Amino acid sequence: MEEIFDLMILGAGAAGLTAGIYSSRARLSTLILNEGVIGGQMVLTNEIANYPGVATTKGYTLAGIMKKQAKDFGCRIISNIKIKEYRLNDTLKTIVLEDGLKFRARAVILAPGGKPRTLNIPGENLYKGAGISYCATCDGDFFTGKEVVVIGGGNSALEEAVTLTSYASKVTVIHQFNHFQAFEHAIKEAEKNMKISFIMETEPREFKGNKVLGSVVIENLATGKLSEMKIDGVFIFIGYLPNTDALKNIVITNERNEIVVDTDMKTNIPGVFAAGDCIEKKYRQVATAVADGTIAALSAAEYLHNQKKINI
Ligand SMILES: Cc1cc2nc3c(=O)[nH]c(=O)nc-3n(C[C@H](O)[C@H](O)[C@H](O)COP(=O)(O)OP(=O)(O)OC[C@H]3O[C@@H](n4cnc5c(N)ncnc54)[C@H](O)[C@@H]3O)c2cc1C
Repeated sequence: MEEIFDLMILGAGAAGLTAGIYSSRARLSTLILNEGVIGGQMVLTNEIANYPGVATTKGYTLAGIMKKQAKDFGCRIISNIKIKEYRLNDTLKTIVLEDGLKFRARAVILAPGGKPRTLNIPGENLYKGAGISYCATCDGDFFTGKEVVVIGGGNSALEEAVTLTSYASKVTVIHQFNHFQAFEHAIKEAEKNMKISFIMETEPREFKGNKVLGSVVIENLATGKLSEMKIDGVFIFIGYLPNTDALKNIVITNERNEIVVDTDMKTNIPGVFAAGDCIEKKYRQVATAVADGTIAALSAAEYLHNQKKINI
């Protein structure tokens, strides 16, 4: 007979695993389906130093602890799957995998995460985590007293450039246009900061170094002239891509394809919640994903309770 779960969670990153911990501890039968590696972006992160309570840890260690905690409470996790079909509008939600397997649940939490947009230029993959970062809050501290470059000209780039001045001795913002695409107050804050300088109408072409990043080759778009800047670190803020391609026509998303939720992590579909980096929000950290996952699981439990299908 087909098993029907109380809750299905799509994604086993920090948000999904946390939701799994809370829901299985509340005795809801819980299944996590994960397209990829358990732990999500945490596993890609060498060192996490700002997650409260664990001090500095390897990302995969933190992910392993969360996975064990969820499993110990009885949460089932199926990983490395590919979802073919989402039927989320019915009261009983159905997920169909590429191999034809079908799973059903009374409530669903969407936690597919996302990824920072990359430049896709030579050297970027090589020096990721060895001088190239996509998160000032995560890695700014490693560049104390050093000279860094920020790539980008939107709100995130300018706000993160200001954040980086708490650590770095000098921050150079490199932007492809002759104007910024940011709010006036973000531009003013960056412009009045004595540690920040700007190189406009310029794009990075290549990252060079030995074992760690040493320089960036940049092109002046007005003249076509290439030059090489010696640099200790590069922070890339050119946008964020939520993993919502398959979901954006099912739940309401904003213009950046982030899932729109209320403060209880409810989407526009009854019984469907969303949490973590995939939702519309400003700060993307392990701690915020964990918080979203907690709220989503508690909201799902309340929804199920109100449906009078279960006893918590
Ligand atoms: C390089 C880097 C360094 C970072 N450093 C730090 C740091 O030091 N401190 C910190 O707090 N934060 C850091 N972050 C941010 C932090 O890792 C993320 O904010 C957090 O892990 C997001 O968790 P999540 O569960 O929302 O998503 P994710 O971690 O992205 O997990 C989502 C999971 O869902 C899977 N998935 C995708 N689509 C589907 C689908 N349709 N169905 C099922 N599964 C799906 C994905 O494969 C993935 O396994 C860093 C991020 C990066 C990229």
